[in-house]
Amino acid sequence: MKIALIAHDKKKDDMIKLAIRFKEILARHDLVATGTTGTLVMGETGLHITRMKSGPLGGDQQIGSMIAEGNLDLVIFLRDPLTAQPHEPDVSALLRLCDVNSIPLATNVRSAEIILSALEDDRI
Ligand code: PGA
Repeated sequence: MKIALIAHDKKKDDMIKLAIRFKEILARHDLVATGTTGTLVMGETGLHITRMKSGPLGGDQQIGSMIAEGNLDLVIFLRDPLTAQPHEPDVSALLRLCDVNSIPLATNVRSAEIILSALEDDRI
């Protein structure tokens, strides 16, 4: 599967913890991420991750484009619902494209854990 990892700034620590916890399963898949998220997760886990531009600089749109092209299977996007994002239109567009294309999408840690656990058990 091809999996995208994206985390807003206040959720980056959660993403790193998630990636450490599920490192073994994530290592079996193709990973892409927005720039800063990818750099941090790679640094903390050693996972190989293809990095797009930083989210606010077009990375969310690049990942959205991959969804539209049918090149992504799962999106883990740890959003910060309590902080205004300068690139909110890009965020909304990415979430919308997941729904348009029926791409599984986790926007918080608990949902991500459930999906990654299912992946671990070969249930999806
Ligand atoms: P970043 O982008 O990983 O480059 O910080 C995430 C985002 O804010 O969309």
